[in-house]
Amino acid sequence: MTDIDQIKQKVDIVSLISEYVTLKKTGANFKGLCPFHNEKTPSFVVSQERQIWHCFGGCQDGGDVFKFLMRIENIEFSEALQILAKKAGITLTSFQPSQTTQIREKIFEINRLASEFYNYILTSHPLGQTAREYFANRKIDSNSITLFSLGYAPNSWDSLIKFMAKKKFTAFDLETAGLVSKSGIGHYYDRFRGRVMFTLKDHHGNVVGFAGRVLDPEAKEAKYVNTAETPVYIKGNVLYGLDVTKDDIKKEGYAVVVEGEVDAIRSYQAGVRNIVAIKGSALTAGHVSLLKRY
Ligand code: ZN
Repeated sequence: MTDIDQIKQKVDIVSLISEYVTLKKTGANFKGLCPFHNEKTPSFVVSQERQIWHCFGGCQDGGDVFKFLMRIENIEFSEALQILAKKAGITLTSFQPSQTTQIREKIFEINRLASEFYNYILTSHPLGQTAREYFANRKIDSNSITLFSLGYAPNSWDSLIKFMAKKKFTAFDLETAGLVSKSGIGHYYDRFRGRVMFTLKDHHGNVVGFAGRVLDPEAKEAKYVNTAETPVYIKGNVLYGLDVTKDDIKKEGYAVVVEGEVDAIRSYQAGVRNIVAIKGSALTAGHVSLLKRY
């Protein structure tokens, strides 16, 4: 049996699509509002028996689990294959990821390690003291620090570069991930220095980038610095907190959108959990279509 057949056998199309569309059982099939065009009467049909979906409305399109995931996440086949293999608990045997996928996976890994590094400095290192006081003053508790992967980037030119070298990643790799910058004479240095760090994740929980807020009120640098746009980070497509709050948004049927990271975290702590932040940027069509899924 091929990897693809195994995945199709293990991933149930109804539960996969239910993560995005509210489906109702009608006879032998399931029905819901098509996520790919605007409609008021459901014409999107899923057959559990045949493990396929079809839109009988505006799209007149359909397919299997792969095609659905590719369309709704706007990803290529190899990426859908990896996501579904993970879901099915299958190790892909005859699979060569495309170059784009390899680069994306590498950036996710670098970002994940960087997030752990910043979180360690904040929670367990003497250099994190001022940042710990900052979060305590903003009334952000230790649960939230873990849940939202908060951190602190030490005020140094190369602490991240040195840490990542031990993990076998070069400064050039870090530049691809948007975590270091290059000086006029070609020296690499940490992009985030002396900043409290907010980890930005996509709705799958992949770390796509960071927002760093300067701690020193007298500092001349910009108050906020974000990761530069990279192959995995497009500013208008990321909603802060969505990876944590998506189930609460689905449960409530709506989302509260706030401006800043701290607003979202404080709201979550206070029990209003169907919350996301747009991080001070404008609300984009990308944000809205992402929210619409839930
Ligand atoms: Zn449709």
